[in-house]
Amino acid sequence: MAVPSIPSPTALRREGDGLRIDWSDGVSTFVSWQTLRNNCPCATCNEERAKPPNPFQVLSAAEVAAGAPAPLAMRPVGHYAYQIAWNDRHDSGIYPIETLRKLGES
Ligand SMILES: [Zn+2]
Repeated sequence: MAVPSIPSPTALRREGDGLRIDWSDGVSTFVSWQTLRNNCPCATCNEERAKPPNPFQVLSAAEVAAGAPAPLAMRPVGHYAYQIAWNDRHDSGIYPIETLRKLGES
């Protein structure tokens, strides 16, 4: 018997305004670019999310400039994560496989 392990992506593709991932355990998940961008795991975004929200700011300057979040590039980092470069020029987010799976299921 194989030891249960974290499922790995067998296929990733753009679908509408998000990312469709097929997993090695047969599950297929979909996560929107907006959700991915909002959950950017980099230190800068974690700090931003920890701050109290500014009630007068609806969109950040970068969001206004870029419009809806969209990826410019997505590349694998080793076997465990993907780095996404966004159209707001933010590219330090490295998304672990587990995060992609969790966001797709939530
Ligand atoms: Zn970030």
